[in-house]
Amino acid sequence: MSFDTPDPPAYGATLTIDLAALVSNWRLLGRRAGTEAGAVVKADAYGIGIEPAVTALARAGCRNFFVAHLSEGVRARKVAPEATVYILNGLLPGSCGLYAEHALSPVLGSHEELLEWASFRQTGAKVRPAALHVDTAMNRLGLWPGEGLNLAREKSGAIAAADIGLVMSHFASSEDEADPANARQIAAFAEIAAAFPGLPASLKNSSGHFLKDCPSYQLTRPGYALYGGNPTPGKPNPMQPVVGLEATIIQTRVVEAGTQVGYNGRWTAGSRRKLATICLGYADGYPRNASWTDTATGGSALVGGVTCPFVGSVSMDLIIIDVTEAPEGSAVRGAPVTLIGGPLDLEAVGAGARTIGYEILTSLGRRYRRRYVGL
Ligand SMILES: *Cc1c(COP(=O)(O)O)cnc(C)c1O
Repeated sequence: MSFDTPDPPAYGATLTIDLAALVSNWRLLGRRAGTEAGAVVKADAYGIGIEPAVTALARAGCRNFFVAHLSEGVRARKVAPEATVYILNGLLPGSCGLYAEHALSPVLGSHEELLEWASFRQTGAKVRPAALHVDTAMNRLGLWPGEGLNLAREKSGAIAAADIGLVMSHFASSEDEADPANARQIAAFAEIAAAFPGLPASLKNSSGHFLKDCPSYQLTRPGYALYGGNPTPGKPNPMQPVVGLEATIIQTRVVEAGTQVGYNGRWTAGSRRKLATICLGYADGYPRNASWTDTATGGSALVGGVTCPFVGSVSMDLIIIDVTEAPEGSAVRGAPVTLIGGPLDLEAVGAGARTIGYEILTSLGRRYRRRYVGL
């Protein structure tokens, strides 16, 4: 099966996705947790493509997938007919029938959702078990901890009627080991999990796998780290890179000191510089916030292995880079430059655009040539 985009010369930039690295990241996280790892594949598998990601992970033995939207769940279901597919955003009113049709599992995050699901089940509908989300810090989705504990006590009530197969909660700051919220959440969830004896539980996202004194329970929910993001920011990245991005140089020119460059002349050459224009811009999901102006630093690219800064505004379809320091012969028409890869990892690219690696990944454009390797 091939997920590749055909006809390479028709594209200005190539996104290479290493599915073998994805699978080995998933295995590493499972080993580290000492329990079963699921896979969070919401947002088109963080930009790399739901179908190839789910296909590769299901083949490797992953049995539990998490997406945000029901429509994403339908896509995951098509390539993983046996897996349990949870919809993290919960039950939208009137959607129970679609859950039944596609054998999807809602993550129930409020009493109303629980009751709607329970009464749907009582009509005799054939559905998979649902998950119950208890909020231990985010104040976003999920039952209050007290509500969760009350439900656990009333054994004959809504919980039994809803057929819950997993109880879960989500970390607010697990990438920051020093944040005292982690210990509070770990303790709050321990009480919840204990109130539902015999029910599988799930707490860890990517960074959760690297927190000390955090039980793994029966299932973990890594996302970002599967795709090569660093779950331990500021420390060496234990994950393998999954995503590489290269764009082609269209033309080069030499400008004199004082020349203004790009829309609104927001960058001025301080000396004689060699510039190159590449085939990629904000319409490809590279943030315009990575523009490098006279007053703010921005993103960069690797040309012949040397880091070359962007200059001026990131345009819709083009970025200008300063290739003065690039090795002889490397910055020429048709040559590739690296936007994501090597030292330009997801964290570095995110920092250059004043955002986080997660947003870089999930914004990856749809108009790149996509090359999937390692399946
Ligand atoms: C997105 C998400 C995850 C995955 O988080 P990462 O930090 O990407 O590992 C896990 N659980 C829930 C509820 C989420 O929304």
